[in-house]
Amino acid sequence: MSKSFADTTVLDGLDLDIPRQNVVTVIGPSGSGKSTLLRILDFLEHADSGTVDFGDGLVDLTTTKSADIHKVRSKIGFVFQNYNLFLNKTALQNVTEPLVYSKGIKPDEARKIAIEQLDRVGLADFHDRYPSTLSGGQQQRVSIARAVAMNPELLVLDEPTSALDPEMVNGVLGVIKQLGSEGMTMLMVTHEMRFAYEASNHVVFIEGGHVVEQGDPKRIFEHPQEERTVEFLSSTN
Ligand code: ADP
Ligand code: MG
Repeated sequence: MSKSFADTTVLDGLDLDIPRQNVVTVIGPSGSGKSTLLRILDFLEHADSGTVDFGDGLVDLTTTKSADIHKVRSKIGFVFQNYNLFLNKTALQNVTEPLVYSKGIKPDEARKIAIEQLDRVGLADFHDRYPSTLSGGQQQRVSIARAVAMNPELLVLDEPTSALDPEMVNGVLGVIKQLGSEGMTMLMVTHEMRFAYEASNHVVFIEGGHVVEQGDPKRIFEHPQEERTVEFLSSTN
């Protein structure tokens, strides 16, 4: 995919493969286009050119056809840095309502799925809480439960722990790690290098709009080949 804002090229023919049941983590300097990449995949931003393929045919990322956009969006669960929960709805309503309104699942069944997912992320005792009464880490876990409840083919996470107080980070990372080990396919952006190391099958370093270097986490973090990767990694801790 390629994308420029005014005369700044942010993504320059970036190409990524995300094998099923793998966790692919994208790292790179601030402003290197990581969020733009994820947002384009969910049509929150329009690419200048590019395609996406979930294994059932190419979809043009510049399309304005709502059927194509819906086809791609329905396969992706998105977890944002700032949770994006409905503040006037409880945790349970936040997870249940998209199942009813976007997927057409009957309310009773949706409620059952939502309860299961909230329990899975450690929020069994918090179903009836409003977001303002939950910690940041708990809100992010509601947001993860909401995305996973939709049964996406790909879970996309944009710096899911960057808005959290340090003591909240581990709970969220633990949930993500568990999802990965259960076979959820994920594309994640994180600045938590240790987490990227532990939770990913594949790490991609991007800069200047394209992939500088990629490989398994051990190789990237312990034996980076490119000078830019070495510099970036030494600047992060
Ligand atoms: P990252 O997530 O890697 O920090 P982003 O994808 O958010 O980077 O941004 C990449 C570049 O694109 C930055 O220079 C940013 O200022 C610019 N950018 C992102 N979104 C917009 C937008 N809607 N309009 C103009 N410039 C944007
Ligand atoms: Mg970003």
